Amino acid sequence: MSKPLRLEDILINNVWDVDYEPHIKVDSEKCVNCDSKACINLCPAGCFTPLGSKIVFSYEGCLECGACRVICSNGAVYWNYPVSGKGIHYRFG
Ligand code: SF4
Repeated sequence: MSKPLRLEDILINNVWDVDYEPHIKVDSEKCVNCDSKACINLCPAGCFTPLGSKIVFSYEGCLECGACRVICSNGAVYWNYPVSGKGIHYRFG
């Protein structure tokens, strides 16, 4: 019987062509008064890291799921897809 795959095992097949310009920007000043900081636990790629009362965001490993755009009620997330050809290239199999 095979072991169930972990998320890391699945993601390792993917390839990222990271743009030098971030496709998502986070205004961490707006995060200061956010009590939940739900983005930290929601993001499947772990792109949001708490730093005191603020958030440090790194876009490089983004999976382009859009969850952070929906969950942020403070309007701190400025979300776009990467420019064509950049970002994650999903590899299934
Ligand atoms: S789009 Fe998804 S993977 Fe990318 S930063 Fe937002 S929650 Fe994380």
